[in-house]
Amino acid sequence: MADKMTLQEREAALEEIAGRIRQCPLCPLAAGRTHAVPGAGRADADIMFIGEAPGYHEDQQGLPFVGQSGKYLNELLEMIGLSREEVFISNVVKCRPPNNRDPLPDEIEICVNTYLKEQVEIIRPKIIATLGRFSMALFFSKNARITKIHGQPLRANNRIYYPLFHPAAVLRNPNLRPAMEADFKRMLTLIEEAANAPDPDEPPPSPPQQLSLF
Ligand code: URA
Repeated sequence: MADKMTLQEREAALEEIAGRIRQCPLCPLAAGRTHAVPGAGRADADIMFIGEAPGYHEDQQGLPFVGQSGKYLNELLEMIGLSREEVFISNVVKCRPPNNRDPLPDEIEICVNTYLKEQVEIIRPKIIATLGRFSMALFFSKNARITKIHGQPLRANNRIYYPLFHPAAVLRNPNLRPAMEADFKRMLTLIEEAANAPDPDEPPPSPPQQLSLF
């Protein structure tokens, strides 16, 4: 399906989803949003970053990672020679939770099943880099701890799932900076590996146990 889509078809398909996200009434987060934040970047990116949820600035602008965390994410991308235009950046939930509280299980389930899965199917990234524990929990076992598994790629369905700390966590705890930067640098090797690998399976033939929601 998506492997036969042209770039323009993928852009149109993502824009159609974005339109639905902007009007979405499906969970209580809809009531508090200024703007929904569908995601941004290349429609056929090899790398897709998935964060947690929009914060204040993202809610104001309707764009992902435009506040302090976003500035740091830009720096990390630049460090490995990537720009935001080359990747796709989205979130587990597309609307800002009140006072930046954690997204609730029902909100996550609705938003992932209704929108994120479709975005992944259209973009078909070779690498999914998760930013923070909520995004990590979509793909890795419930017992996985980010402090233990960050920077350790999981290969499944001809795709690489790569767990990273959330940039905001690193800004709060500068001790995590060296690990975050090393994890980003390691992504260069993964990009090279992905370039020579077959396209991700679609749909996954039988999701490995770790891939709980996908
Ligand atoms: N934190 C996130 O998880 N996502 C954003 O878009 C911004 C901050």
